[in-house]
Amino acid sequence: MNDAPNSIFSLILSGEIPSHKIYDDDFVYAFLDINPLTRGHTLVIPKENAPTMDTLSEDSAASLGRVLPKICRAIMQVTGAINYNLIQNNGEAAGQTVNHLHIHIIPRYSDSEHSFVWANQPIDHLDAKNIAESISAAFSNFLRSNLWAAEDNSG
Ligand code: AMP
Repeated sequence: MNDAPNSIFSLILSGEIPSHKIYDDDFVYAFLDINPLTRGHTLVIPKENAPTMDTLSEDSAASLGRVLPKICRAIMQVTGAINYNLIQNNGEAAGQTVNHLHIHIIPRYSDSEHSFVWANQPIDHLDAKNIAESISAAFSNFLRSNLWAAEDNSG
């Protein structure tokens, strides 16, 4: 667990400020965004006070992953949207304005005009090989250190 400062979403979770609730369980809460990009724009948050995805515990991540598809399905069924985007900003420079991990579900309608455009470039395969191998090695190290931590804790 981390000790990120409380955000406005902590006040929503504690019921100190109201929200339009969509879903609630021990680990996850979902509610309507107060400034929706489109009708039915929903935020799904862990109850754990994690600011960004890389800081989230495995239990909360698993709970989030378990309910996300069903929340998307319910939104699609009720709104009649033709498609939807999941957007998840991590950190201020990446556009995050509320310091509590949240996933936006943004329905797209036939007359929607919003876009999420970025200027991408063809991959540099030499650099790609290096970075893919480095990230893969870092990931393996996380797995190993998790296993060691689990063994240490088992007594
Ligand atoms: P982000 O820019 O990814 O951090 O998104 C934060 C989102 O939280 C924005 O879309 C806001 O409209 C939304 N938001 C902020 N305060 C509230 C609130 N009290 N209730 C519902 N949504 C909120």
